[in-house]
Amino acid sequence: MSGYHKRDFEPFPVHTLKRLERPTTKIQDDQVKRVDERESGFNKALRGDYGPHLQKERARFVTKHPISGALSWMTAYLRDVVDGLVASQKAPLPEDPALLSRHIKELAYFLRVDAVGICKLPPYAVYTNSYPNGDPVELNHKYAIGVLIDQDWRTAEAFTGHDWISNAMSFLAYSRSGFIACIIADYIRRLGYPARAHHARNYQVVVPPILLWAGLGEMCRIGDCVLHPFLGPRFKAAVVTTDLPLLPDKPIDFGLQDFCSKCKKCARECPSGALSLGDKVIFNGYERWPSDVEKCTKMRVGNPKGSGCGTCIKVCPANKPYTLFHRAVGWAVRRSSFARSIAVRADDLLGYGKPKPENKWWFDLEDVDGVLRIPTSKLDSGDVN
Ligand code: SF4
Ligand code: SF4
Repeated sequence: MSGYHKRDFEPFPVHTLKRLERPTTKIQDDQVKRVDERESGFNKALRGDYGPHLQKERARFVTKHPISGALSWMTAYLRDVVDGLVASQKAPLPEDPALLSRHIKELAYFLRVDAVGICKLPPYAVYTNSYPNGDPVELNHKYAIGVLIDQDWRTAEAFTGHDWISNAMSFLAYSRSGFIACIIADYIRRLGYPARAHHARNYQVVVPPILLWAGLGEMCRIGDCVLHPFLGPRFKAAVVTTDLPLLPDKPIDFGLQDFCSKCKKCARECPSGALSLGDKVIFNGYERWPSDVEKCTKMRVGNPKGSGCGTCIKVCPANKPYTLFHRAVGWAVRRSSFARSIAVRADDLLGYGKPKPENKWWFDLEDVDGVLRIPTSKLDSGDVN
C-alpha cells in the first residue's frame, strides 16, 4: 500500500468477513507431525535428490534474472537479524492484549504491509530441525503475527506465469515481508518481550497453518498455499513469533472450499501437472487438496524458459485488482454458492488469466556465469528486448 493514499486502519474490509472458531480446513491437531525444514522440495533439490542438473540449477534459479538476483541478495542480509537481545526491563505499557494487538497491527500497516493477522502459535507449526545443519528447533513463543505483501497486480497481469519476472515477484514480497518482520521483532524486543522474525532466508516455522489460524486466508487447491480474500494467492508472508501478550484473530470463511472444488483452473493450467483435479485427502493431519511437491520444485528450479513459476497464482480467479467491479464480484462470491458457480465460468469466458504483453515492463535477461545474455530458450510471452 502506498503512503500517498489515505488509509483506514485496515486496507481491506476484513471486519466484514465471517469468523469461525477453527479454520475451514479440517486439522486433526493431535495427528499433525512437525516437519523437518531439510525435507522441503527446494532443499531436496539443493541436496541433489532430484539429480545433478537440478542441483546445479537450484543454486542459480533465483539469481539467473538480475531483478530477482538483486532482491534475493538483499534478503540474504536479513538472515542474521531475526533475533537479538531483549531489553532488561519491560516498557511501561498497559498489559492489555487487545490494545497491544491493535498497536502492532497499526505498526505493521505503517511499515506498509498489505495484511496482518495474529494467532496463538500452533506447536505443529514449528520445524523439528533447521536447514542446513539439522539443529533441533526450540521455539516456545505463545503468539505468531503474520504479515503479507502483495506481489504486484500489474506485473501479475502482464506475465505468463512462468517467464523471467516470476521469481522477482516472489522475492519482492519475500524481501519486503522479511524486512518488516525483522523490524517488528526488534521493536518488540526493545519493549522487553522475546520476539523472533521468520522469513524466506531464516524460518523456524511453517507458515500456512499460522496464516489459517490468524484469519489471513483459507487453504486453496494450490499445494500448501493459503489464499487471502482480497489479495488472492498473489502474496508472500513472513512471521514474527513472540511472548508479547496479544489477542488472537479468528479464522475466516469466505467460501473458498466450495469455490476451489468447482474451479480447478490452477490444476488445469499448471505446466508441470503438480496440482490435483480431484478431491481432498488427509495428509499429515490436514484435509487438503494433494499436490506433487517434486513436480512443482522441478518446474520452478529447472524452468528453461524463465525464472521460477507462478502460473497457478497468475490464472487463479482470485488474482484480481482491488477495483469497484471486482470488489462487488468478491462480495457476491463470498456470500453465495450460485455466484461462485457463475464466477468460475465467467472467469474463463472473459479471458482472465491470459498474459498482457503490452504491459510487460521488464527485460528478459539470463545471467550465465556472471554475464547477462538474452535467453536462448524460445519465449512464449511478449518481448521488449
Ligand atoms: S508454481 Fe508452477 S509448477 Fe508449481 S504448482 Fe504452481 S503452476 Fe504448478
Ligand atoms: S485457481 Fe481456482 S481452484 Fe485454484 S486456487 Fe484459485 S480458486 Fe482455487
